[in-house]
Amino acid sequence: MNTTAVAKDRIFNFSAGPATLPEPVLEQARQDCWNIFDTGIGIMEHSHRGKAFDRVLNEAIEDCRSISGISDSHEVLFLQGGASTQFGMVPMSFLAPEKTADYLDTGVWTTKAVKEAKRFGNVNIAFDGSQNNFSSVPGAGDLNLTDGAAFLHYCSNNTIYGTRFEAPPETNAPLVCDASSEMFSRPFDFAKHAIIYAGAQKNLGPSGVVLVIINKEFAESGNQNVFSMMNYKTMIDGGSRFNTPPTFGIYMMGQVFKWILNQGGLEAVEKRNDHKAGLLYDVLDELEGFYNGHSEKACRSTMNVTFRTPNEDLDAKFLAEAAHHRMDGLKGHRKVGGIRASIYNAFPVEGCEALASFMKDFAQKNG
Ligand code: PMP
Repeated sequence: MNTTAVAKDRIFNFSAGPATLPEPVLEQARQDCWNIFDTGIGIMEHSHRGKAFDRVLNEAIEDCRSISGISDSHEVLFLQGGASTQFGMVPMSFLAPEKTADYLDTGVWTTKAVKEAKRFGNVNIAFDGSQNNFSSVPGAGDLNLTDGAAFLHYCSNNTIYGTRFEAPPETNAPLVCDASSEMFSRPFDFAKHAIIYAGAQKNLGPSGVVLVIINKEFAESGNQNVFSMMNYKTMIDGGSRFNTPPTFGIYMMGQVFKWILNQGGLEAVEKRNDHKAGLLYDVLDELEGFYNGHSEKACRSTMNVTFRTPNEDLDAKFLAEAAHHRMDGLKGHRKVGGIRASIYNAFPVEGCEALASFMKDFAQKNG
């Protein structure tokens, strides 16, 4: 498999998002911004209703279906407003004052989703991760579910705390998943979900576009009396082109989909991600005591590796010295502090090797 080593004039970018993109995709985009499909017009300059963009959009949808294995029961949509807009759009359509939705609160992003949902109906916090500082996700026995819930909302990978669900939670309610920070990083039961959404800027492309995979019957069952831009059915009927969509973002996502397929699909991508994350977690385990990982071991994310050194001064020193080794974006989120290495699909193996080696060296010198 092509491991895509970082080019000489680029550095290792551990940013949580916007994040590292596959270098072959950036190279292709450089060409297509100038002249795509030999049309003499760049991708950003083409009409969203013209033939060139028809091809870009249709290929992106087809490739998304190939990667995820989802059938015609679900629609593939490219929407705007970031994943944060989905926090409101979901309950606006599927919650009401007489209904209750179950939310699993695994930190910050789900807390924000809960806040928006409460504007439209009742929210039952079926899991409250704040009690252990969001260091784990719930197991099957930990859920306090509502009979007849309108839906269950969860976040499959928590970007800030570095935790993830091994598999979707079990419930009879329609499942809604925020997969922003791990979409297409591993095989997953996509079709099990009524809605699965992901902001592009981590694993899928540039910011400004959100991938939404939605069950068509579920979309039909929603409240249709909502503002058109917030109505899934309008977006389905308009084929993501009810208004002018983010054409460049959709083009980029399509290119990333082709790159994923070229890598060998999600099994191959997962293998590489497990290897990369393993390089860092092995160091955390070996040097436990100096390094303190945030996530409980059973819930560790392969996308966001979060940890601390023995104190904040050493955290700052770690970040400053890492910068001298061509490593950027390692500062933990302001809510948790410490260090966070975001190593999404496109992040190179070499960058994880470099960080693992730096971590060992740093612990030896400062331990
Ligand atoms: N959900 C998760 C899991 C995230 O990591 C983020 C952003 N980091 C968001 C939602 C919000 O995304 P956006 O900024 O695209 O609205």
